[in-house]
Amino acid sequence: MKRALVLGLLIGAGTMAVAVAGYQGGTPRAVLPDLTHVKDNLYIIEAASPADRSMFTGGNTGVFIMDTGVLVVDTKLAGYGNDILQKIRKVTDKPVTTIVNTHTHGDHTGSNEGFPASVEIVTHENTKANMAKMDAFKGDKAKFLPKRTFADKLTLFSGKNRVELYYFGAGHTNGDTWIYYPELRVLQTGDMFPWRDAPFLDRANGGSGVEFPRTLAKAVAGIKNVDAVIPGHSPVTTLKDLQEYQRYNADLVTATESAMKAGKSADEAAASINLTDKYKGYKSERVKAAVEAIYAELKK
Ligand SMILES: [Zn+2]
Repeated sequence: MKRALVLGLLIGAGTMAVAVAGYQGGTPRAVLPDLTHVKDNLYIIEAASPADRSMFTGGNTGVFIMDTGVLVVDTKLAGYGNDILQKIRKVTDKPVTTIVNTHTHGDHTGSNEGFPASVEIVTHENTKANMAKMDAFKGDKAKFLPKRTFADKLTLFSGKNRVELYYFGAGHTNGDTWIYYPELRVLQTGDMFPWRDAPFLDRANGGSGVEFPRTLAKAVAGIKNVDAVIPGHSPVTTLKDLQEYQRYNADLVTATESAMKAGKSADEAAASINLTDKYKGYKSERVKAAVEAIYAELKK
């Protein structure tokens, strides 16, 4: 229980994660892996497991090598900017020109400050507002806030370099960007599909457990031609797994609503909900926190 809470905080706030893990003022201890090839000119620098916080570096980082430069999607915890650049150098000399942050959390935005200030940072408009509230982007560091934002859809670059950014509604936060690489038929989800367990619902940043499955359904319906999916914190997988995650979240909300109607407390509801028989390979380490968040949302 305490561990789940700590993990929730760790994913929830990068600055806090830094303090929790005892990295104050120093370089994070965990080392980044080399790039993992996804397809053609798309790579990721894989996320480390947040279960072992001494090894935690942040979410999956996308590296998309274009004709004239490199797009980086998510920058991990603070302190990894140079490490990310060194890893990219192993496959290209082209400069990083653009960063997309899938959402506000410090394990996805922490190393924005490690890139040249000339790099264009792009996010959903709500994520920019959420980031502006973080200590990590105050004062001098406000220059690492996004300069370009969008509301529903934004196309970056052209031809075979085209990248489409989508917003389908609230879920993990109120500013989660989906990144689609049409030429490669690859979809990057950020933390709308982080792992096979209940999602972290950041209600303080506009997240919604009730909307989560609806937003997932809109994404699945709205983006055609997907052969591979890059989740927020787990290895590259298939569209089928994303569709399954949508059904899992719909079942989680339905089960929570009926437990509430039956008069159960949030604790009792969490204890009574078992989705791991139906969803093979899923964990239940985050169900309790998610059920509590959905309860709080339904009570409003
Ligand atoms: Zn997150």
